[in-house]
This record gives sequence, structure tokens and C-alpha cells, in this order.
Amino acid sequence: MKESAEVHKFGGSCLVRREDLIAIVRRVADSTSQQVLVVSAFHGVTDRLLNQLDCGEAANIDAFTAAIELTHLEAAPETASGPWGARFKQTLSTLNSHLRSHSDTPSDSTRAQVLSSGERLSSLAVCSMLEDSGIRCHPAWSEEIGIHIEGSGEDGVIDVDRLRDDLTFDLESFIPVVTGWYGLSESGDITLLGRGGSDLTATSLAAALDAREVTIWRDVPGVLSLSPRWSLPSRNLSYLSYTEAVELALFSEPMLHPGAVEPLRSLGIPLRLRPLHDDCMDGTRIGPSVLTLSPRVRAVGSLPRLRPLRIELGAAGSVAPTLAQVSETLGKARISVWSLRASPGEALLLVSEHASAHAARLLSALPQPPQYEVLPPVTLLSFVGEGVGEDAEVRESIRSAADASDLDLVRLESSEHALRYTVASEQTEQALERLARRLDLLI
Ligand code: ASP
Ligand code: MG
Repeated sequence: MKESAEVHKFGGSCLVRREDLIAIVRRVADSTSQQVLVVSAFHGVTDRLLNQLDCGEAANIDAFTAAIELTHLEAAPETASGPWGARFKQTLSTLNSHLRSHSDTPSDSTRAQVLSSGERLSSLAVCSMLEDSGIRCHPAWSEEIGIHIEGSGEDGVIDVDRLRDDLTFDLESFIPVVTGWYGLSESGDITLLGRGGSDLTATSLAAALDAREVTIWRDVPGVLSLSPRWSLPSRNLSYLSYTEAVELALFSEPMLHPGAVEPLRSLGIPLRLRPLHDDCMDGTRIGPSVLTLSPRVRAVGSLPRLRPLRIELGAAGSVAPTLAQVSETLGKARISVWSLRASPGEALLLVSEHASAHAARLLSALPQPPQYEVLPPVTLLSFVGEGVGEDAEVRESIRSAADASDLDLVRLESSEHALRYTVASEQTEQALERLARRLDLLI
């Protein structure tokens, strides 16, 4: 029987220093299975490319390209003299000319070409390191292997059926190192997924290959019941269901692209989040739901530094158009709305603190500006667990713990598997400590 492959994804947090590249080579060498690797751009490279596109000066393009080259060569010096050295140089020079043409005449297609260069350079550097250790591999760029994207940005997904038909990897002979985050649009142009989208490339490839498992390597031990930023003694979660992982990913600092689980769900392919540098830690496994007796909160996602905008909606008849106009205006300005709660007479929108002044200016500039108020900063808390959204007991224990500590929790729209609230910024740590204790999430 043909052995099924493993997909390993290395993101920016595992592509920083030379030690990271050495650890990647070791992880690949240690595995005895057929492997497919997916890489994102080296750490910080996508942000630097974005910054050069949006604020960079044409006069700096050569220096900028040289700095990007250096970032790769410092961590993976083997690239320059290895079998992909010439292709690496060529990719840098193509990047340079795309940056020049973008600064003359900006266009979405050159922008996507520039941004996807980070992943191309990364695949060449990782291949060079592997090859130098005698591991046979090959850079496999998304445009060459048939990664087609339906939609783009936040709404983009990879066409898995088409990928399954197109893939021609010879996994017996070499390990493909696939570029994450981008693919081809219907019209054949380079198109990007949303930020962090290499996770989605990895899981879509796993689905297309019917892989045994996907591993997303990270620079942290595993998924914790509370974000490490709060320094509370949280539990390490050895298992999460697909659903819990998606809910948690929606409202926490980058852990996983929230769409990444979808391609795996119907095939039941397990996903592991594992620490690159810690051999003793197994990380967190994500897979199908495990039946439990009664719903339980397993983890709390938190998004700090948000501001609620309270909008008066006036007469019932004008509610929908006012909200539609507000969402459209904020959407056009690429301001994310983290949550929206409409009740008779008013709506509450959550936007990030740094976008709140901009959002307020846009609302005031509408032809018929709504009455609104920007409220003090809050943290969004999302209590995640299969079935908790509909469970009166879980809701009650959160409410009573909050009341006992005089916490100002405001309930938001929830889902079947998550209860969401806001808490005043200055009460966040206290709230998490009290609520996590009540829900038995601390060690
Ligand atoms: N390099 C892209 C980003 O920074 C994609 C990824 O990291 O997954 O968003
Ligand atoms: Mg990522």
C-alpha cells in the first residue's frame, strides 16, 4: 500500500535565525515518512515588503532588496553557493523590478508579485539548507504546482479538488518545499490569501494528498488555556476539536489561520501544533470532536485593546440601512469590525483601538451621520468549548463569578461553541484570573 504523506509547515516565527533553519533540517531528517514542506516568508519579511510598497521611496529599492537578501543569507548562507543560488539571485532581481514598476504605476497584480516574493525566497533558502545536509528536495512554487485560489484575501480559499487533480509530486525521489500564502486566480494572476494564510496552504495540500497528518511548527510550546501574555498559570491543551480550534483562532493572537481547519474536517486529518525547538513537548493535537458529558469551557481567547463604538439607530425602519452603511464604510477603509451587537435602538461595534479615531471620522463624514459614541477600551474574551454557547449552566457560572468580583462583563453575540464578552481593559487580568479559576482552567 502507498504510504500517505505528512505535511510540515514552517512559518515566519520558525524562520528567524540560523538555529531555526538547523532545527528544521533536523526535524525533516528525523522523519521517516514521505514529507511535503510548506514555508511562509522569513520572519518580518512580508511586513517589510508591505511597508516598502506603501511607504518606500523609489531611490531605496536597491538598498531594500539588498537588505532582504542579507536577511536570508545570514540565516541560510548555503543559499548563495548552493544549487538554487542563481534562482535566488534571479528572484531578488525580479522583486527589484516589480518594486520599481509598482512605484511608477501601482497595480494589484505587481503588488501580489512583490508580496509573494517573500515565500519564494524562503523556499529557495530552506531547500538550500536541506540539500546541503544531503536531503533531496525541490522548490515547489504555488504557480507551478497548480494552487488555484477562489476569492482573495480574507475570503480566499484553495481549490482542493483541482489541486488533487494537478499535483504530480514524486515524493519517493524528493521533498517538495511549497510556497505558502499565494496561488493563481481564475484569470491566472498571482493572488494572495489573507494574512497568515500559509496555514491554509498546508492544510489544503494535506487534503489534496490525503495526508496522514499536518504539523504546524511554532516557536511556543503548544496551545494554552489562556494566552501567555497574561502570565497566569494556564494549562497546556493536549487536544482541541476542530471547532474549538477555529473558535479560539478567531479571537486570539495569531495561533492558526481560522480557515485552516476547514479542508481537514471532512477527511478527519489531524493537525498538530508543535514547538520547533523543544523535543520533549508534543504540542497540541487538533481533530474531530470528542464527546463529553456536559459542555465545558476549555480555553479563553482574548483580544485586548478594542474600542466599542455605540451607534444610535433611531426609528426601527432606519436600522438596517444605517448599519449596512456603517459596515460598508468601515469595510472599504479596511477597518476590521471584531463584533457587532444590534439591539432595538442601538448597535455596538468593536474596532481596534488604533483604528477607532479613523472609524469615528468616517462615521462623522457620512451624508447622514449617525449619533455615536466611542467608549473606553475593552478586551474581548471568548470562552471556548463544544456546546458552551447554548449551555445555561456555563453562562451562569461566568456571570456569578463576574458578579462576585464586581467585574463589568458585557455579553456579545455568541456562537454555539463560544460565549463572548467584553471587559474593561483595566479589569482584564483580574477577570481572567477569577473566571479561569472558576472554570478550572489554571494549574
Ligand atoms: N507571509 C504571510 C504573512 O505574513 C503568510 C504567512 O505568514 O502565513 O501573512
Ligand atoms: Mg503564521
